[in-house]
Amino acid sequence: QKRNDLHVFENLESNVRSYCRSFPTKFQRASGYQLWDMEGKAYIDFFAGAGALNYGHNPPEMKKKLIEYLTMDGISHSLDMATEAKESFLTRFNDVILKPRGMNYKIMFPGPTGTNSVESALKLARKATGRQTIMSFTNAFHGMTLGALAVTGNKFKRSGAGVPLNHTLSMPYDGYMGKDVNSLDYIESFLNDSGSGISLPAAVIVETLQGEGGINTASNEWLSGLADLCKTYGMLLIVDDVQMGCGRTGSFFSFERCGIIPDIVCMSKSIGGYGLPMALTLMKPELDLWEPGEHNGTFRGNNLAFITATAALDYWERPSFSYEIEAKAVLVRDVLEEIVIQVPELKGEIRGRGLMQGIAFEPGIAERISILAFQRGLILETSGTDSEVIKIMPPLTIERAGLESGLQILKECIHDIAN
Ligand code: PMP
Repeated sequence: QKRNDLHVFENLESNVRSYCRSFPTKFQRASGYQLWDMEGKAYIDFFAGAGALNYGHNPPEMKKKLIEYLTMDGISHSLDMATEAKESFLTRFNDVILKPRGMNYKIMFPGPTGTNSVESALKLARKATGRQTIMSFTNAFHGMTLGALAVTGNKFKRSGAGVPLNHTLSMPYDGYMGKDVNSLDYIESFLNDSGSGISLPAAVIVETLQGEGGINTASNEWLSGLADLCKTYGMLLIVDDVQMGCGRTGSFFSFERCGIIPDIVCMSKSIGGYGLPMALTLMKPELDLWEPGEHNGTFRGNNLAFITATAALDYWERPSFSYEIEAKAVLVRDVLEEIVIQVPELKGEIRGRGLMQGIAFEPGIAERISILAFQRGLILETSGTDSEVIKIMPPLTIERAGLESGLQILKECIHDIAN
């Protein structure tokens, strides 16, 4: 059975074919790391809204703030107007996140989604440098609009759109050319190849860890080498932290322990805290170049998201939060190592860091594991161009017992498939 054959809404003629079919039941409610379907069956969530639910489903403290705000008729939608909720978020983000890290960024709300943030970053880089080309990487994922798709390295996602946009360069990500080859040497020789008429890129857009692309992790050396190349060739460094930000890899920003300081940072998914749509584009102050109204959008004043996003920052006031994530990450890594050793015939390869880990298998196996896990009450997505990697991405706040139960289900499924 293939995951694409599973469809719970098949009698709804209006439902488009592309709609996700991976988890065929009707879900009704959710709390913390669990969801329940209409029959009352519980599921452990190792998917966390594709990274939009790092703090779990309906986190009580955010729910309380949201209810209080709605009860006092707080403004829901305010476009670009100044509101108390927006000001509180901006102040708190500066105090809790930027200042303690010695970071100096201006903050823009580019629209509701991660793709909106990526688009704004690409446009801004072009305006700031006067150059056109954007460099991106093999297996990258940056979103579904034409600009973001143009820098996405996924044939399936790009196929129907024709040639998305000109002026893009897809370069080999860390490890893509094999363990012993440093792809930065290749990239640099390419940038130096004036004979081929290459125009230098305005920016490089990179994920420190490719979530959708198969949990491919770039080393700190590679990332700082890339940052050096950016300086040498006058390219802006854009880090797409849409999926890896907000603590997914252990620290608030995925890049903060990699020794790099991006010029532009894209954020979304868990920044809204409650699964509410919100995105940020952080830019170095000298990049604050747009005139008022030059780049805008209707839904960038989601005050309900500002309320929950502000409450979410409370987690980051506690230094212990990062340690808690790391302790859970060690537990995940230990179990994955045990599994891979116990079933050598499946030739699993462990990938990732923090609470973004997975195992890569031969094509077909990860999908079978995901189907079996779902039947046994565990929501588990796959990633990679051939869906060859199972992706373990629980809410960061998951209790240890929940994590252990989910990992136990995963272990049993993998053993059953090996037998
Ligand atoms: N960048 C990355 C790294 C992502 O993982 C995603 C979504 N999976 C996006 C951008 C696009 O975000 P959205 O779906 O919110 O537009």
